[in-house]
Amino acid sequence: MALRQRARQLDPGNGSAPSAGNGPRRSLQRKLAVATTVGGLCTVVLAALVIAASYGDFAAARQNLYDISAYRDVLDAANTLSAERGPANSVLGEPPSPHSAARARLQVFRARSDAALARLSAPPPAPFGLHSHHLPPLMVERVRERLARARTEIDELAGRAPQQRDMDEIRHAIESMFEVVDALQPAIAWQVRELSVCDDGLAAPALTGKMLGDLREYAGRMASQIMAPVAARQPMPVQSLVDATRSRGRLLELWQLAGPAYNMFGAAPALEQAYADAGHQFFGRGVAMVDSLVAQGRNSGNYSMTPTELTNRYVPTLEPLERLRSVFLDEVVAHFTSTRERALRRLAAACGTSALILAVLGYMLVFARRAVFLPLLRARAEVIALAEDRVQPHGTPPSETTMQARRMGQAAEMRRLFDAIDILRRKLRERAALTAQLEQQARTDSLTGLLNRRALELVATRYGAHETASLVLVDVDRFKQINDRHGHAAGDQVLRNIAAQMRALVPAEGVLARFGGEEFALWLPHGRPGEAAALAETLRAAIASRPVYLSGTTQLGVTASFGVAVGHGGASHWQRLFGAADAAMYRAKAEGRNCVREAQDLDGMPAR
Ligand code: GH3
Ligand code: MG
Ligand code: MG
Repeated sequence: MALRQRARQLDPGNGSAPSAGNGPRRSLQRKLAVATTVGGLCTVVLAALVIAASYGDFAAARQNLYDISAYRDVLDAANTLSAERGPANSVLGEPPSPHSAARARLQVFRARSDAALARLSAPPPAPFGLHSHHLPPLMVERVRERLARARTEIDELAGRAPQQRDMDEIRHAIESMFEVVDALQPAIAWQVRELSVCDDGLAAPALTGKMLGDLREYAGRMASQIMAPVAARQPMPVQSLVDATRSRGRLLELWQLAGPAYNMFGAAPALEQAYADAGHQFFGRGVAMVDSLVAQGRNSGNYSMTPTELTNRYVPTLEPLERLRSVFLDEVVAHFTSTRERALRRLAAACGTSALILAVLGYMLVFARRAVFLPLLRARAEVIALAEDRVQPHGTPPSETTMQARRMGQAAEMRRLFDAIDILRRKLRERAALTAQLEQQARTDSLTGLLNRRALELVATRYGAHETASLVLVDVDRFKQINDRHGHAAGDQVLRNIAAQMRALVPAEGVLARFGGEEFALWLPHGRPGEAAALAETLRAAIASRPVYLSGTTQLGVTASFGVAVGHGGASHWQRLFGAADAAMYRAKAEGRNCVREAQDLDGMPAR
């Protein structure tokens, strides 16, 4: 009983099936759901942070690549503009002829410069998610103006006969081409600043790219600066000397600064080759060529080369410088391309790993629910049922659906739990059967199979106190003599016979018991005067008329005396009813035995 109460306390839902959606299940499920939601949210937040960081890296790398490519366009434009000087110089060194090879070459180079400037002033729109650092239009416009002015000057001079070209005018025309490139320098500086602000990793490659471009530029300029006296076949004027010497010093300085930085992104064979070639060809042969012309110009003005020869021999020594510049910029772009791809791979890995973790979490939730949570609820319901004494001694085993539900995807540990519950249920069932058997034995007289005195008294005392009842006490006459003469076993036989005889005659509602020794009692509900006595008389006559057959042929006549009382049921009347029946029975003994005597008026019950 206490166990059952405890079970009810444990289970406010009163032990209904786990599928019934009762309180505890809801609360446990809610806890599981809350815990999973919190865990899932934390994972999502963590994943979002990692993905956001990876995406930030990727976006920055993408922007860097775009920026460095745009910057390269500006440097390339500067390079294209300075390359236009070579054919311009050639045209200035030859007689006017609109269809000469030098003139055709100049047209090609001018077209390239125009295209490069057009790209700078109207770059293609930035791809999605990127912002472009468009050059301020005024900067490009200024370059275009300078270029137009320089070209007019060159065309005007080239249209004259060579002897009509003044050396200072030639020098001025050449310098006006320098000014075109100089006019682009603010745009390059502006871009370097924009890139450095955007990402400080861009500053070093941007500056180095600019310096390598300047190397190429000043290498070209140095020859151009002495071109006018060479073309005019006049001694070198001081201005040309100063300009060329300044360019020479600047070139050496740039070479010292930028030259060794060519491998800032690791070893690249093409760059190493270009660096070695530049040192060898330009700083070896090219610079020596200019030096010797300067020396000739200072002495006499008798130059060992014509401007065209100078151009043809000098320009090839610039090739490694140009290669160094362009391969370096290729390497820079390749570096930022691979950085972007690495960032993209990391982003993909972060997304993939996050998705995997979330999928595993989801699977674990479903698994925990199916393999642990639901079986535990089922086990809980079964244990509560056991605790509530819902085990019948011969109760039916769990149904097939229950067994199937139990087996559903069960882990070994859960099977062990259900096995243990089955063992518990079997043991409780055995105990219940044993208890029932013991209770049965406690009520029964082992010799006759009738109820015993305690069982009869329980029936009689529990009977309603306002109801009437009858009690018949039966005592075998001179039973001691039977024992003495025929032995105890014969006595037992007599008792069994009498019990069987009486049981056959007692009505269904009557309670017949062996009261002790050789005494019996018959309790009848609804005590009606005369009825119990009549029944007692029937029993007496039956016992007296039927001898007991002992072993062999020995017959034994047996009689018994009967005392009858009619009164009320219930514990409070029991002693009086019993006393009256007992007294009546003793009267029967006293008045000769083998007879029935009724108690006198009891509790106002009329005697017959
Ligand atoms: P009376 O007619 O006055 O009742 O005489 P009685 O001999 O029947 O009465 P008494 O009370 O003197 O003797 C009862 C005997 O019943 C005594 C006892 O040995 C015997 N007895 C009691 N229980 C058993 C039993 O279970 N088996 C056997 N064989 N004898 C029993
Ligand atoms: Mg007796
Ligand atoms: Mg007796």
